[in-house]
Amino acid sequence: MALNIVVCIKQVPDPEHFSKVSLDPVTKTISREGIPAIINPLDKNALEEGLRIKEKFSAKVAVITMGPPQARRALEEALAMGADEAFLLCDKAFAAADTLGTACALAPGIQKIGHFDLVLCGNETVDSGTGQVGPQIAQFLNIPYLTKVKEIAFDEERTLIVKRGLEQGYMRVRVKLPALLAVNKEINKPRLTTAFGIIAAAEKEIKAFDCRELGVDPNDVGISGSPTRVVETFQRVSQRRREVIYGSPEEAVKKTTERLKEFGALVQ
Ligand SMILES: Cc1cc2nc3c(=O)[nH]c(=O)nc-3n(C[C@H](O)[C@H](O)[C@H](O)COP(=O)(O)OP(=O)(O)OC[C@H]3O[C@@H](n4cnc5c(N)ncnc54)[C@H](O)[C@@H]3O)c2cc1C
Repeated sequence: MALNIVVCIKQVPDPEHFSKVSLDPVTKTISREGIPAIINPLDKNALEEGLRIKEKFSAKVAVITMGPPQARRALEEALAMGADEAFLLCDKAFAAADTLGTACALAPGIQKIGHFDLVLCGNETVDSGTGQVGPQIAQFLNIPYLTKVKEIAFDEERTLIVKRGLEQGYMRVRVKLPALLAVNKEINKPRLTTAFGIIAAAEKEIKAFDCRELGVDPNDVGISGSPTRVVETFQRVSQRRREVIYGSPEEAVKKTTERLKEFGALVQ
């Protein structure tokens, strides 16, 4: 069985540096300036799953992202993890997209790669976190989709049995390929890149497509193709005081108790 797998990856600000993320009060957009970018964590799980399928069966794994030129870095990392091909959808026309504008570029991007059997996404991102992009891509590609996927097994050659997480349990669903699956972190533990992987990635090409090359109407993508607008943003500023107490556990408990008494949070 030879499968063509496409994994959607998004470059996001590193959550370790989220305290530096600010909201522009005028444009209402997130300012990510000076914040290191990483591959969205669940997208690494999606890629890992694609690579595991490739290791079991004969498969080709392509990664695709829509983003600014610096999103190339995310694709390089994905190639170093073991992806075979990488595609960057990059054009000023794609800027400031909402989820529909994003899916409107990614779906033709996936079709442009060629024949696909399985599209893998993260269930949601750590920055916008709507969880809408995967289902919207599936809708445009006219294929079935499943979200919150925590296990994928092959039933017959082109049929998968997928375990989906529920709030209080799980369900198993049979789905025929082609399909789109949006994965959760329980599905696997993504591999680390190796020196060999980084060297191998240097040999692999990243293909870039702009709006015209995708054959997409600029009015359907980016801000023009986005029916939603952010009308207000609010940045919560914590009013709580923070204090770190150092020392052995016994000393720390003693000091903490004293401080809590000083603030009247503890009596006696
Ligand atoms: C009303 C609105 C206005 C916005 N305006 C702006 C703006 O002005 N500027 C701005 O930078 N952002 C803006 N955003 C955020 C932007 O829409 C999202 O970054 C983008 O649409 C992806 O949405 P998400 O992060 O919620 O993805 P989710 O739906 O949570 O992502 C699920 C999965 O889809 C895939 N995926 C998502 N995005 C991509 C991508 N770009 N490439 C490849 N795969 C992807 C990944 O596998 C991801 O794990 C706006 C969002 C909204 C709702």
